[in-house]
Amino acid sequence: MNRRDFLGTGLTALSALAAGCATRKTKAAVPSALAPQPNVRPAPNLAIPRINWDRVIRTTVGLRPHRDSGFVLKAEKFDEKTVIHDYGFGGAGMSLAWGCGSMVADLALEQSDRRAAVLGCGSPGLTAARQLQRRGFAVTIYTMTVPPYTTSNMSWAGFTPTSGLVSNDRRTPAWDAQFLQAAEISYRELQLLAGAPGYGVYWIDSYNATGDPQSGGGRGGGENTGLLPDRLRIGRDREILGPGEHPFPARYAVRTSALAIEPSIYLDALVRDFLMFGGKIVIRKFDTPRDLMPLTEPVIVNCTGLGSKTLFGDNELVPVKGQLTFCVPQPEMKYRVGGRAANAAATLSLNPRSDGIAVGNMQERGVDSLEPDEAVRQANMEAAIQFAAAMRAPSGHIETTRSRPSTVPTLDSFFGLES
Ligand SMILES: Cc1cc2nc3c(=O)[nH]c(=O)nc-3n(C[C@H](O)[C@H](O)[C@H](O)COP(=O)(O)OP(=O)(O)OC[C@H]3O[C@@H](n4cnc5c(N)ncnc54)[C@H](O)[C@@H]3O)c2cc1C
Repeated sequence: MNRRDFLGTGLTALSALAAGCATRKTKAAVPSALAPQPNVRPAPNLAIPRINWDRVIRTTVGLRPHRDSGFVLKAEKFDEKTVIHDYGFGGAGMSLAWGCGSMVADLALEQSDRRAAVLGCGSPGLTAARQLQRRGFAVTIYTMTVPPYTTSNMSWAGFTPTSGLVSNDRRTPAWDAQFLQAAEISYRELQLLAGAPGYGVYWIDSYNATGDPQSGGGRGGGENTGLLPDRLRIGRDREILGPGEHPFPARYAVRTSALAIEPSIYLDALVRDFLMFGGKIVIRKFDTPRDLMPLTEPVIVNCTGLGSKTLFGDNELVPVKGQLTFCVPQPEMKYRVGGRAANAAATLSLNPRSDGIAVGNMQERGVDSLEPDEAVRQANMEAAIQFAAAMRAPSGHIETTRSRPSTVPTLDSFFGLES
């Protein structure tokens, strides 16, 4: 079916429903589609993504450091050294790092010496280092790689604090409490960075194109639904657009506000801040805990992610492979979209960043290859091309900008987002 046929079929079906559907904000307000109402809201004018094979610029792969029982945040003694572990964030390491870094720094304050070593220079390492500096520590980062060559640089990356993080049956009350504290702190820190230029953190509208607005689409579903008590599951910023009220090739679009992080800008900014506050970076690989003993710092913060499997013998760590394909950046595209076009074989996710439109994603547990998977690349791109081709063209010149949400979404409205 070509684009015109698709649109023709789709729009005929949709127009029968369109009259009955106004913008809806809550589950209870989802329409009886057949009740005729004249007040269909005009669709937002969203730029059509320019996605085709000629615009593909690269495919990246990263290995998420997952543990079924969740991240590790605890101190232990190795001879005279105190090692504070801060790793194992699965698909949430960009989201939770500031909070865990803050808790790490508080643990470090129990030592009288104000010198600390941080192992690793991804999002967890850099934020832990900054939190230590804020508390008056002189910090050196020892690391094998620095941005742009870390897993953190390969992330999608949004505020997705529960993504691929923990298996519900392995949670404990103590871990839940750590998680909640980390999520609260991180959400606040990232909001503050969204107001500062040069960090690559901003609010953006995110649409989920779907046939069923009650499933997925920012509803906070997914494997970690139980992480927050029900009374906190509000999701105020969720808006359901009905047939005729959005440009996407699906019956509904669910709009939410997303907190976006551009890894290359963000991680470079963290490195810059770390150095500006007197931090030092030393390129070094450690093979066993014994290698750490010559370090002069009495406190060592372990942010080596998957590296902790060999370095500290954590066999619970398992890689979850992720892959993104990027198309040439398109500055006028200022929204994210995910979902599935009617009749499409696969779902898609599009994330417009200044380093390209990210098309993806994948979650392959136990795969530790950094080679791109060609079949996944093909499927993701074909889904994106088909979706973009079936979108309705914008009609005027009204620009939809990166959003500043009218109501700030509650933390729990980001729970269950996949990354
Ligand atoms: C495709 C994809 C999408 C993602 N999307 C999101 C998202 O939307 N939101 C989100 O929050 N998260 C997301 N993530 C997850 C996030 O990227 C990770 O949780 C995070 O980057 C993990 O950071 P890390 O510190 O464990 O790894 P890294 O960033 O790789 O940092 C580890 C550091 O430790 C160093 N190191 C390791 N071993 C040693 C050693 N033996 N000696 C010395 N140094 C060592 C490394 O060189 C590196 O500097 C995504 C991941 C992928 C792959």
